[in-house]
Amino acid sequence: MIEDQILKIGIQDKQVLEIINSIDRQKFVSEEYAQAANAEGLLPIGHGQTISQPFIVAFMTDNLKMDTSHKVLEIGTGSGYQSAVLASLSHHVHTIEVIDELAKKASLRLEKFGYNNVTVHIADGYNGLPDEAPFDRIIVTAASEEVPETLIGQLSEGGIMILPIGKQFEIQYLWLIKKEMDGTIIREKILPVRFLPIVRK
Ligand code: SAH
Repeated sequence: MIEDQILKIGIQDKQVLEIINSIDRQKFVSEEYAQAANAEGLLPIGHGQTISQPFIVAFMTDNLKMDTSHKVLEIGTGSGYQSAVLASLSHHVHTIEVIDELAKKASLRLEKFGYNNVTVHIADGYNGLPDEAPFDRIIVTAASEEVPETLIGQLSEGGIMILPIGKQFEIQYLWLIKKEMDGTIIREKILPVRFLPIVRK
């Protein structure tokens, strides 16, 4: 099922598919929500938040063209599921979560499953993580109304960022932003999506 969804939108990196298929999403949600799980859909994780559908996780990850030398920034840790996918394909992941309880649970979960190349930060991630910048890859899993320019500043030359942009009840798009080696920024709208809004603290 999940594979059908993923194949339909075309994932180029076979390794991304392998990783997505090897990580059990259900293990990243509490018992109470696991029952509500629908393999192809959104998965509630508490605090009104959800894990994206597997094909969105796969699509975003695929577009990041990850490699094991990369230092990655994720904004919106949630359950830690996307962090686990990123950790499997990169050198180190810094992930930021604004809701204290979600961050703590995700951190424990990632540790328990042996992802020792992920650091969970509890903060408003809208302005990224200046102390750890630059990042080779940045992914945001909650929607902003416009691209946070600070994040572009934290992208290394040759870096790629993917994030949903748009208002909550209007059409949002995933934007793919690339910083060329000479610093030129290329912005591309690649897929209509629906994400919950980013929360400011
Ligand atoms: N990637 C997650 C799902 C993310 S849902 C997973 O795989 O489970 C979006 C998450 O972004 C939520 O957990 C929400 O609390 C978090 N979030 C929203 N605004 C944020 C902000 N300003 N900084 C950090 N995290 C934020």
